[in-house]
Amino acid sequence: MAIGVLALQGSFNEHITALNKLGVKGVEIRKPEQLEHVRALIIPGGESTTMAKLAEYHNLFPALRSFVKSGKPVWGTCAGLIFLADRAVGQKQGGQELVGGLDCLVHRNFFGSQIQSFETELSVPTLADKEGGPPNFRGIFIRAPAILEAGPSVEVLADYPVPSKQVMETASESKTEQEQNNSGEKVIVAVKQGNLLATAFHPELTADTRWHSFFMNMVDGPVDEGSADQTIAYIAKQLPVFQ
Ligand code: GLN
Repeated sequence: MAIGVLALQGSFNEHITALNKLGVKGVEIRKPEQLEHVRALIIPGGESTTMAKLAEYHNLFPALRSFVKSGKPVWGTCAGLIFLADRAVGQKQGGQELVGGLDCLVHRNFFGSQIQSFETELSVPTLADKEGGPPNFRGIFIRAPAILEAGPSVEVLADYPVPSKQVMETASESKTEQEQNNSGEKVIVAVKQGNLLATAFHPELTADTRWHSFFMNMVDGPVDEGSADQTIAYIAKQLPVFQ
């Protein structure tokens, strides 16, 4: 069975390419019934309002919700994180439908507008522990959301320091410029809760496939039937990394 990537809009091709690099087949999901044939799902970054409208048009919300509830792994990146959150602020007027499941409050455009997009080195101890490699990860934040509150069953995998001024102002939903210096306040940018993984940044736009590999390790059993190469890649992934 392959891994589904919601392909309504946004960076779904990049996720499929990253999966392919790991020897895993990624298939585009546009219709509810296609979810029956995948073992896990990635909801990519893009524009969450547009994606929600398209999901509604294709009657995908009920199927997406039951997929999340079924316990199969689901990973939301950026707009995908917004989709998975139980609660969101900073939405367009009228809000937007969410899939939910992730016990988090997300701010949709926490880091500001498109021109305030940035890259930064994130400390990712759990990822490095599980997948090897350096203790940090290059986070690409494009008009990115952030998690402001997370429930007790949510494991924080990465956070990011921001000025307390921004934290306070975004809590009251007014827009601010991102300041260069930080005050020790942090927002959450990567989490895991049971079968759900969410990142505010875009691992699919980097050459570092550790988040994809981490997600694949949340999936039970070999993911690609019928291909010796892919099964070997899966087994190799389970072996310790020598470096
Ligand atoms: N903040 C954007 C939204 O609301 C998400 C941006 C992204 O996915 N890169 O959809």
